[in-house]
Amino acid sequence: MQPFSIVIHGGAGTILKSDMTPELEKAYLNGLEAALLLGFSALEKGESAINAIISAIKLLEDNILFNAGRGAVFTKKGVQEMDAAIMDGKTLAAGSVAGVRNVMNPIDLANEVMMHSNHVFLSGKGANDYAIKQGVKLMPDEYFFSKFRYDQWKEIRDSDSYSLDHTHQDLAEFFKDKKFGTVGAVACDQFGNIAAATSTGGMTNKKYGRIGDSPIIGAGTYANNNTCAISCTGHGELFIRAVAAYDVSALIEYKGLSLQDAMNFVVHDKLKKINGEGGMIGIDAQANTAMVFNSAGMYRAMKHSNGTQEISIYKAS
Ligand code: ASP
Repeated sequence: MQPFSIVIHGGAGTILKSDMTPELEKAYLNGLEAALLLGFSALEKGESAINAIISAIKLLEDNILFNAGRGAVFTKKGVQEMDAAIMDGKTLAAGSVAGVRNVMNPIDLANEVMMHSNHVFLSGKGANDYAIKQGVKLMPDEYFFSKFRYDQWKEIRDSDSYSLDHTHQDLAEFFKDKKFGTVGAVACDQFGNIAAATSTGGMTNKKYGRIGDSPIIGAGTYANNNTCAISCTGHGELFIRAVAAYDVSALIEYKGLSLQDAMNFVVHDKLKKINGEGGMIGIDAQANTAMVFNSAGMYRAMKHSNGTQEISIYKAS
């Protein structure tokens, strides 16, 4: 049996201890811990990396605190449109969905796309029709409602922007508090197979069917046993332009960088240069792990079969 490990994230952004109540901090840490332990226990039992990340992500999607599944943010029209992706590093099989509504666990739908559709990427109504055909669980709008997200959206719904423009006066207050609550997981199982998954509600007040990096294979999500498995969180437009997740893989494959060095370069150099705020989690087939971000914080957690465990929110000072 080889070493195994799992890493998860619950989004990056301006996450400051000064803005957090002890109760809320505890709730976030508990949410992360529960998902981490669930995913890790799957690996301990000898289950695949794919199974481990799906179970961890589903728990985060069901948690109202994170911007995915049940806690997804509101679009300009006041609904939730969710994106998710999963990739298997052993086979390079992948499945993604974008702009789906009322799907309880978008990661289940992405997995159905990967396993049974003969396609990689489905969107909008077609993806919803596929969810119905495959018997993926749907929930009514009320399930996705939370006062917290509604208030966030109310503050900016009359503006024309969803962007993270700090200089925009009306939005300064909102984006002072900017957080990208997307969830993600990567794992390496006992057989040395790795996988990555990401699930998100995208950005508050998004319109025109905006899609971020999360469901785009190579941008927000990527996995390849020969290199790494990566899940990103942050300002999606910039992660798409940087082809961020695949860039880490390419640095490992073509330049021989370590996982940590490749992620450091993409997050602190490449993304930083284009103001791409956020971070990513990564793993390789030797069960090495890394969690890197250029924002004030990133909800994150990792657990390794050698006993190492970390659950953190803020930057190490
Ligand atoms: N990357 C996501 C997006 O742009 C947002 C996030 O990470 O929370 O849709």
